[in-house]
Amino acid sequence: MRIHLNSARSAPLDGVCLNRTISCQMALPKGMSLAQLVLIGSTIVLSWLGMQVVHELGHVLGALATGGRISAVVLNPLEFSRTDLAVNPHPLVVAWCGAVLGSAIPALIAVACRFLHAQGLYVVLFFTGFCLIVNGLYLGVGSFMHAGDAGDLLCYGAAPWQLWLFGAITVPPGFILWNGLGPSFGLASSHGRVNARVAYTTAAIAGLLLIAEFAYTWA
Ligand SMILES: [Zn+2]
Repeated sequence: MRIHLNSARSAPLDGVCLNRTISCQMALPKGMSLAQLVLIGSTIVLSWLGMQVVHELGHVLGALATGGRISAVVLNPLEFSRTDLAVNPHPLVVAWCGAVLGSAIPALIAVACRFLHAQGLYVVLFFTGFCLIVNGLYLGVGSFMHAGDAGDLLCYGAAPWQLWLFGAITVPPGFILWNGLGPSFGLASSHGRVNARVAYTTAAIAGLLLIAEFAYTWA
C-alpha cells in the first residue's frame, strides 16, 4: 500500500512566492499485502484477547463448580486479566482451571472447526497453539518465580513438577499446531497472498472483542 500526499502551493510570504512540495510516503514491507498485514495483526490481537477470555472462563467455571463466589472478572485490554473471588472453598482447583480449561477449550474449538471444515481454520489453529504455549509457559516458567497462578498453585499445595508436567504437555503441541501455518498467513511460498475474506473477518471479530472489553470495563 502506498499513499502519496502531494501538495504544491504558491502563496505570498513577505513578497516572496513560496513553492512547497510535501511528499509523504507510507509503504508496507516488501512483498507484504495489506490483507496479509490485517490478517497477521488481527490474529495476534484476537489470540491475545481470546486467550485471556478463555483462561478467565476456566477460573469462573472452576469457581462455580466448587461453590465459589466471584466478585470480579477483569478483562481490560490494557491490563492482564484477572478473576477475583469473594468465596473460594477450593482454591487449588480454581487456580488449575484457568490454565487447564484455558488450553482445553481452544483445543475443543479447533477440533470442532476442523470437523466442520471451517474456512479460516488456520486462524483457530494459531489461536489454539497460542493458548497452549502461553498457558504452559505461564505455569511452567512461572513456577520458578512463584508468579501469578503458578505462585497460587504452589501456595495451595501443587508440586513444582506438576506445573512443569503441564507445560511439557501443552507447549510442544502448541508449536506443532503452529508448524506449517506460514503460507496461510501469506508467508514463505505464498508471497503475501492471503484469503482477504478471512483476513477482514478476523479483523472484525478482533475489533468487536476489543470494543466489547472496553465497554465491559467502563460499564
Ligand atoms: Zn489465571
